[in-house]
Amino acid sequence: MTENCISILGSTGSIGVNTLKVTEKLKGQFKIKYISGYNNYKLLIEQAEKFKPEFIVTSDDHYTKIRDILKRASVKVIAGSEGLKQSCQDAEVGTVVNAIVGSFGLKPTVYALEKGKKVCLANKESLVMAGSYIKKLSKKTGASIIPIDSEHSAMLQALNGEERSSLEKIILTASGGPFRKKSGSLENVSIEEALNHPKWSMGKKISIDSATLMNKGFELIEAVHLFDISPAKIEVVIHPESIVHSLMQFIDGSVIAQLGLPDMMLPIQYALTYPKRSKLKLPRLDLSELGKLTFHKPDRKKFPALDLACRAAEEKGTLPVVLNTVNEIMVYKFLAGRIKFTDIVNNVGKEMDAHTNIKNPTIENICELSDELWKKFK
Ligand code: NAD
Ligand code: MG
Repeated sequence: MTENCISILGSTGSIGVNTLKVTEKLKGQFKIKYISGYNNYKLLIEQAEKFKPEFIVTSDDHYTKIRDILKRASVKVIAGSEGLKQSCQDAEVGTVVNAIVGSFGLKPTVYALEKGKKVCLANKESLVMAGSYIKKLSKKTGASIIPIDSEHSAMLQALNGEERSSLEKIILTASGGPFRKKSGSLENVSIEEALNHPKWSMGKKISIDSATLMNKGFELIEAVHLFDISPAKIEVVIHPESIVHSLMQFIDGSVIAQLGLPDMMLPIQYALTYPKRSKLKLPRLDLSELGKLTFHKPDRKKFPALDLACRAAEEKGTLPVVLNTVNEIMVYKFLAGRIKFTDIVNNVGKEMDAHTNIKNPTIENICELSDELWKKFK
């Protein structure tokens, strides 16, 4: 197993494409053995031709089409969950970048951790649904989880060289999303308005999660597991400029932050090269040009997703699975024009209220519950 031999899951998505760009900039430092994509098969083929992985993993639906197109190329085409499992557990692969969106990213995370891999994790949904299980598993197998999420990358960087026991509090920053300044009800906002994130260009699902602030709720749960801290010790602060990516407060009152212009290439590269740094040619921060950075408290009435996520983080068990999966289903319903924007979080709350929490769930309990919820809301 070599750390420099990598699998990139979700290579056709926003994080996946940026990960390929980073490996290109790091010239020859990484051997890309697998790339995987689910729906944009044309891009997957282009990537296979350009980056020449040994394998591409695709959905069962696109398998025959891709195999026929790439018949004469040396790349092998594999499909479905068995294909994903192989890409995560291949003996030569040392690092798995999980940039799959949503609850379908959980199993690949588990597959990779089972084999003691380094997992560069963009798929925060894995930690939201099964954080306790995943942490235990990685301890058992010696696997490591390095966050790609910019806030958690900032936390990791700020914690570098510090004793974990010196950490007192995490300050998790949020841009506030497209509706930060909008007054009145959000009930009738359009899909286009909700997708129009002021600072980041991302996949559709996380863009909607950013508009409801559910993304920040997920990130709170992500931080609970990654840094083994109670939810009460994480403060969410709105910081519209998205320059300070998060801050760590220590027991002597010192606060250490990581700053940078918003670009996912940086946290992706840091995760890949961690604990080392490599050169990265991107525009640099110019503080005097920026002039000022602002911070304020979130409006928890306007964005009830934050309190729902805090509740799920406190109560643990299977409640975070309900939070995650019902949210995901509702986001796709909103994107399909079937429900209103405010119904996303309202329906998550209703389903959480109706749920009988299972404490200390097994991974099977978690996956079964998630599958049941997908069936229920089909
Ligand atoms: P995206 O929609 O752009 O890409 C998703 C990728 O997952 C695609 O390659 C798609 O083919 C693949 N995929 C979708 N469903 C799949 C399935 N059922 N099985 C296998 N593959 C599947 O999403 P994104 O914005 O790149 O986000 C990916 C993950 O990274 C999410 O968990 C998101 O929360 C997280 N993240 C993204 C950003 C960002 O800037 N985009 C920042 C932080 C964290
Ligand atoms: Mg983030």
